Amino acid sequence: MGKSHVLIIPYPAQGHVMPMIELARYLVQQGVKVTFVNTEVTQKAVTSNWQNTDGFDDLMMVSIPDGLEPWEDRTDLCKLTISILETMPGKLEELIEKINKEDSNKLNCVIADGGMGWAIKVSKKMGIISALFQPASAASLVPALCAQRLIEEGFISNNGIPLKNETIQLSETMPPIKPQNLPWACFKDSATIEAIFKVVSEVIEVSKMTEWYICNSTIELEPAAFSMFPQLMPIGPLLASNRLADQEGHFWQEDPTCLTWLDQQPECSVIYIAFGSFTILNQTQFEELTLGLELSNRPFLWVLRPGMTKETYPDGFMERVKSRGKIVSWAPQQKVLAHPSVACFMSHCGWNSTIEGVTNGLPFLCWPYFADQIQNETYICDIWKTGLGFNKDESAIITRDEIKSKVDKLLSDKMFRSNALDIKEKVTNSIKKGGCSNTNLTNFTEWIQKEATHDSTDQPDSM
Ligand code: UDP
Repeated sequence: MGKSHVLIIPYPAQGHVMPMIELARYLVQQGVKVTFVNTEVTQKAVTSNWQNTDGFDDLMMVSIPDGLEPWEDRTDLCKLTISILETMPGKLEELIEKINKEDSNKLNCVIADGGMGWAIKVSKKMGIISALFQPASAASLVPALCAQRLIEEGFISNNGIPLKNETIQLSETMPPIKPQNLPWACFKDSATIEAIFKVVSEVIEVSKMTEWYICNSTIELEPAAFSMFPQLMPIGPLLASNRLADQEGHFWQEDPTCLTWLDQQPECSVIYIAFGSFTILNQTQFEELTLGLELSNRPFLWVLRPGMTKETYPDGFMERVKSRGKIVSWAPQQKVLAHPSVACFMSHCGWNSTIEGVTNGLPFLCWPYFADQIQNETYICDIWKTGLGFNKDESAIITRDEIKSKVDKLLSDKMFRSNALDIKEKVTNSIKKGGCSNTNLTNFTEWIQKEATHDSTDQPDSM
């Protein structure tokens, strides 16, 4: 009997590639062969920042084009999404044909990111069984699941554009949400909203074609959302079982000096500030944040990703904070969050950052930027009660005084740390043997391994 061979394809964004690489590494450790398909641009970023390949000979990193020229702007999600849909299905089909011709281990299964639902259609057409992977929360899928109802009740147009300003209650137990905060509706222009709405609608459609739909979350974190979508299986947080190991899949090079800097700080004293891979700060907001950190008068470690701001610091700022502030362009976030010197996480509330903070028992200061980050803030502040959000002034700016006031409030109230430790324990139990996420992941892996006994279970489809 040959090895099972799985093709994994993430949406080309940092918060999608990283957890899917974690899934790939887990499967390889279980004896599965994995072909991991990046776009050409993400392949270059990921492979040039890769740290350690030991023990991962069965993880093949390959790439196909996304249809854009190398210099084109991939932060334009509308353009990127349309280009992916036009170019990648054909390229993926060619790749699968090539692998199955050349590799003695034919592909048994395709695991596609929910943002790449079209890949499920390709695998179905080629007679290969498939699974969907949801890298974000279960809650972020529920609005798409209820889209028809939202259209009928006049909250959104047929294309997903928000129409009313009334709060939506998707179920009695789900946190309320405003139409403009729906995960696809947080973009500024309607073309992007429509493109992303098409992608999220497609994922619900293709979820009916797959046997497994796994989610990088736990039932303990979001029981209401999972009860609304019984097909969705929590298997996460994937990184939690690998907390201190090297995290792979970085688009930027990690700066390890922040760990030695953290070693020199008092226990539970440092504010860690990181806003993921997309957030942009305008100059006014950037200045208020720098001055807010200065006013807070505590040690801080701040990730300022290249291109995130113009990085024009207020006069004398660097000199004034140099004894207690450290700024890096990209951090080994897993290790930073697990460091005993860190007191709290000022985060944009991307789902990966959220569950990484949760599994390290940290309280949050929430600075959501777009998409599902607004729902994640609601989880943190209103449901789990492990953090605080910021209020904006009349110019939509979070002021230095607001930052200082929330830092003080979060760190002086023991309730936040105590709730964070309670949730950490529940989540950690879920990934231990016998826990819900662990059992689901084991069953999923066994299902994949069974497929090694035959080339495929499906008959090719005429699409
Ligand atoms: N990350 C990191 N170093 C940094 C900042 C972020 O390794 O300095 C990682 C972080 O651990 C997370 C991912 O990048 O796994 C970002 O994903 P998330 O869903 O939080 O946000 P996104 O980038 O998708 O907005």
